[in-house]
Amino acid sequence: MDHRIFIYHFKNDQSVRGRHMTYLCYEVQLFDVRFRVPLGMIRGVLHNQHHPDPQRRCHAELCFLIRMSSLRLYPGQWCQVTWFLSWSPCPRCASKVSDFLRSNRHVSLRIFAARLHTYHAGYEEGLRSLRDAGAQLSIMTAKEFEYCWRVFVDNHSWPFRPWNMLEKSSQAISERLQSILREKISFFHQPTCYQPSFGVFSPGRFPCPPQTASSWFPAPPRGPQHHPF
Ligand SMILES: [Zn+2]
Repeated sequence: MDHRIFIYHFKNDQSVRGRHMTYLCYEVQLFDVRFRVPLGMIRGVLHNQHHPDPQRRCHAELCFLIRMSSLRLYPGQWCQVTWFLSWSPCPRCASKVSDFLRSNRHVSLRIFAARLHTYHAGYEEGLRSLRDAGAQLSIMTAKEFEYCWRVFVDNHSWPFRPWNMLEKSSQAISERLQSILREKISFFHQPTCYQPSFGVFSPGRFPCPPQTASSWFPAPPRGPQHHPF
C-alpha cells in the first residue's frame, strides 16, 4: 500500500471527511490442529469494491470472506485471522462476518479498527454481534499503526511518524468502543470458549475473556465440521 494512502485512510481522527473507502490489512495464520504447529502466514490488503451495479459492490470485509473461500483449507487446519481496518465494520458486514464466525469455529478473528464507523443506525449492535460471535475488537494504537506501516506499507524504509493526537484519539475511540461493548450482553448467540488447560471446548455463558496475542493457540474444531473452503 502506498504510504500516502495509508496515512490518509488510517488517520484516526473521527472528524475526517471524504474517507468513503474502508481499507483492510489482513493476516491469516494457519495452524495444524493435530500437531499444534504453524503452517504459514498469508497477508494482504483489500478495500471496498465499487461497481455501478449495486449487486456487485462489495465492502472490504465481505471481499475478505470471498478470498477466504479461495484458500481451500482442509479439515484439521485452524485459522487465526487479524484485521487492521480503517473503519470498523458497518452493521451489514458485522452481521455477515458474525454469521461466518458462528459457522466456522476453526476461524478466530481479532479486529483492530482505526476509527468507529458510526454513520449507519445499528452500528453498536453490529459491533456487539461480532463480539458475541467470538471476535475480539480493539482500537488501533501507535503500536498497531507502526506495525501496519512496517508490514503492509511501501514505506521506503522511512520510520513511522505518529501524527498529532494519535494516542489521544485512539484512547477516546477505545473508550467509546468499550462503552458500546459494555452496554448489553446478548444471550441469543453465546460464543464458545477454549480452555487450553483442559483441552476441551466449553460453552461460555459469557464472551471469552480478552486474550493477548501470545495466548492465542489453535483450538480443536468442534464437530460437526463446517468447511465451506
Ligand atoms: Zn460494510
